[in-house]
Amino acid sequence: MSSELTVCDVSPRDGLQNDPTHLPPATRAELVNRLVGAGVSHVEVASFVNPQRVPQMAGAEEVVQGIERKPGVTFSGLILNARGYDRLAACGLDEAHMSVAASETLNQRNQNASVDESLADVQQIITRAHAEHRHVTVIVAAACGCPFEGAVDPARVLAVAELAVGAGADEIVFADTIGVGVPAQVRELVTRGRELGVPVGVHLHDTRGTGLANAYAALESGVSALDASAGGVGGCPFAPGATGNIATEDLVYLLHGEGVSTGIDLDALIGVSHWLAEQLGHDIPGRVQRAGDFTAVSRRTRGAGAGAGAAANST
Ligand code: ZN
Repeated sequence: MSSELTVCDVSPRDGLQNDPTHLPPATRAELVNRLVGAGVSHVEVASFVNPQRVPQMAGAEEVVQGIERKPGVTFSGLILNARGYDRLAACGLDEAHMSVAASETLNQRNQNASVDESLADVQQIITRAHAEHRHVTVIVAAACGCPFEGAVDPARVLAVAELAVGAGADEIVFADTIGVGVPAQVRELVTRGRELGVPVGVHLHDTRGTGLANAYAALESGVSALDASAGGVGGCPFAPGATGNIATEDLVYLLHGEGVSTGIDLDALIGVSHWLAEQLGHDIPGRVQRAGDFTAVSRRTRGAGAGAGAAANST
C-alpha cells in the first residue's frame, strides 16, 4: 500500500462544470486559493474547452490569473485537443490533463473526435509540452464503463493507456467517468496500468456508492494519485446521469485514518467545502463536511481531559 500519495482536487473543474450555478472566474480562483490554503498540493483549476459547450468553464484564463502560485503546488488544466493546449500553455499552467475516452461514442460526444484522432493529438501535444518542460497526464475516460456503450473491456482501456504511454504520457489516470466501477475493476486497471512504467492515478465518481471502496482498492494496488472534489460536487456534462466525484474530505478522512499522509488539513478543507456550498447556493453531497472530522473531535476531547467522562455519558 502507498504510504504517501497525491490528492488532486478537481472541484474547480469537474466539480463545477455540471453545476446549475455558474460561478464567476474570480470565485473559481478563490476556490483554488482556498484549497491550496488547506494544504492541497495539486489542483485541476479549469478546463480549456469551448465555453459555448460548457459555459460553467468560461473564463479559464481569468481563473488562472487569479491564482496565487505557491512552490510545491501543481496547478493543472483539462484539455481535449491542441486548441485547449494552446490556451493552457499561454496561461503558463504547470501541467496538462488530456482526456481520451476508452469508448468511441463518449469520445465523439465529449470531444467531437475519434479515439484514434485524440491519440494522434496526444502525441503532438506531448511533443510540444515536453519541449516546454510541461508534464502531461493522459486521463483514460469511461475506464469502468460508458454511458452510451455500456461495459468497456479492460483490455481496451489498457490498450489506450499503453498507446498514451508510448506517446510519452508522464502519468495515466483511469477515470470512472460515470461512477459505475467496482473495486475488482479498479484493482485490475491500477495493477496492470502500473506495468506500463509510469505513475498511475484514478479519478472516481460516487454515483453508485462505490467511490470510496474503489479509492481503497486503488490504494491497495499502489496508486500514486487520487482525484476528488471538495464537497463531492460535480459530474461530466456529456455523460447522462453523471454525479459528483468522491468528496476530497471523505477521501482525506479515509487516507489519514489509514496512515497515508496527504499534507491536507482536514478541518480547513471542510471549511472550504462549506464555503463552496454557500457560493453554489445548494447542499453538497460530501459526508465528512456534514459530520465533521471524528479524529479532531476525539483529539479535542482528550485535550480537555474529558475522554472517560464523555464515554460514560454516551451509552
Ligand atoms: Zn470526472
